[in-house]
Amino acid sequence: MKDSFPSVGGPIQLFYTPVGGKRLPTISRAEGLYMWDANGKRYVDASSGPICCNLGHGNRRVIEAGIEQMSKVSFASRNLFENEPNIQLADLLAKLCGPGFERAFIVSGGSEATEGALKFARQYAVVTGQESRWKVLSRMPSYHGASLGAVSVTGDPETESLYGDVTRIMPKVPAPFTYRLEEGQTVESASEAAAKALEDAIIAEGSESVLAFLMEPVGGLSTGALVAHDVYYKRVRDICTRHGVLLIYDEVMSGAGRTGKFLSAEHWPVAKPDICTLAKGVSAGYTPLGVIMVSAAMTDVLRNAGGFVHGHTYSANPLSCAIGHAALMELVEGNLMSNAAEMGELLKSELTSLMNRCDFIGDVRGKGLLTAIEVVSDKERKSVFAAGEPSVGRLVQLGIERGILLYTRRTANGRYGEWLMISPPLTVNPGQINEIVGLLEETFAAFKAEKTGTA
Ligand code: PLP
Repeated sequence: MKDSFPSVGGPIQLFYTPVGGKRLPTISRAEGLYMWDANGKRYVDASSGPICCNLGHGNRRVIEAGIEQMSKVSFASRNLFENEPNIQLADLLAKLCGPGFERAFIVSGGSEATEGALKFARQYAVVTGQESRWKVLSRMPSYHGASLGAVSVTGDPETESLYGDVTRIMPKVPAPFTYRLEEGQTVESASEAAAKALEDAIIAEGSESVLAFLMEPVGGLSTGALVAHDVYYKRVRDICTRHGVLLIYDEVMSGAGRTGKFLSAEHWPVAKPDICTLAKGVSAGYTPLGVIMVSAAMTDVLRNAGGFVHGHTYSANPLSCAIGHAALMELVEGNLMSNAAEMGELLKSELTSLMNRCDFIGDVRGKGLLTAIEVVSDKERKSVFAAGEPSVGRLVQLGIERGILLYTRRTANGRYGEWLMISPPLTVNPGQINEIVGLLEETFAAFKAEKTGTA
């Protein structure tokens, strides 16, 4: 092999190496909360990768389910065969999601789930005589995936300006941030105002043209685990119902137990969405998997009109479904949702103490183990580090040096703030939370030392 295909030499041929072409350590193995590189250095996986490794690494049940399924059949086209793992996974998902989400369409990740949800909504509108509805409103900032359809509904000014001409950028409404409020505002009144902005936008666009409103119920990386006041969820539901707009929850990051309930929508039972998407935790990082959950009533309407016209090669493949099923069984039988709720409280209280000792943490927020800390240059003024100044990117680097992996992105160069996601696997225990907070404290101390010139 080596002789037939001699190496061309020089840098590696992959083109997703990080900015500047800097090489990364090579991963060697991983177990539970920990990962080791080829040099034997150990890292604490404090953000579950990009918040997907919900069971931690090396889970035997999931690995064995994959091996067993592979030895039976890895792939069979959905158009030619039904497959048991697909049926079982859909059944389990319907049970876990509860009434209103009796039907599942399985895809291979979060962006595909966004695409599928939008296409389902549009096809549903067309077959119910609402062809005029096509606009999908979403929030600024937000993240719904990297494919061009998902980009059209993702709230990120930089992505919009790069791809605006090759996709159709949909209207945005403000995300209901709770940290930097205007003079005289409370979290509740700010949330009310954000919901009102949605209604104003629907009216301004012409409500008969609006198909859906898409939002992350508990924010992911784009807002740093943003949770609005309860009133927001209720108002948004009422507004969507009033204007005949479908409400879609993107639970790609917040779903599958991460916030302490299977769907984070369960925290607001009066505000149930019409469609929801999941990915990440559904397979806990053991295979690419995503899901679109809808009601039996809606799928019946589409079935009577010829069915949902959509699909990818890997949709519903038996191997991914068997792995997803095992991952969800582990979540349920290991009581990991209640652990997420309990450990989430402990983590938030430890992070709040850390915030009180640390100059650069302005806010701690989230639900369950979907948690983030907001990084500021000045706590009193709640200010963001200026462009070009070392900030969250440097903290991630200092964390890696100390053996802690953190997850961040400075959306729109920090226009809305910047944060570190602290979202460990749902298997995390109190000792490991101490370890994470201890390493974070060391990381912030090193950051301060660099800032004050005492490093
Ligand atoms: N939606 C949300 C809320 C996400 O956090 C992500 C990914 O981070 C996506 C959609 C896209 O998922 P994927 O990266 O699996 O395509």
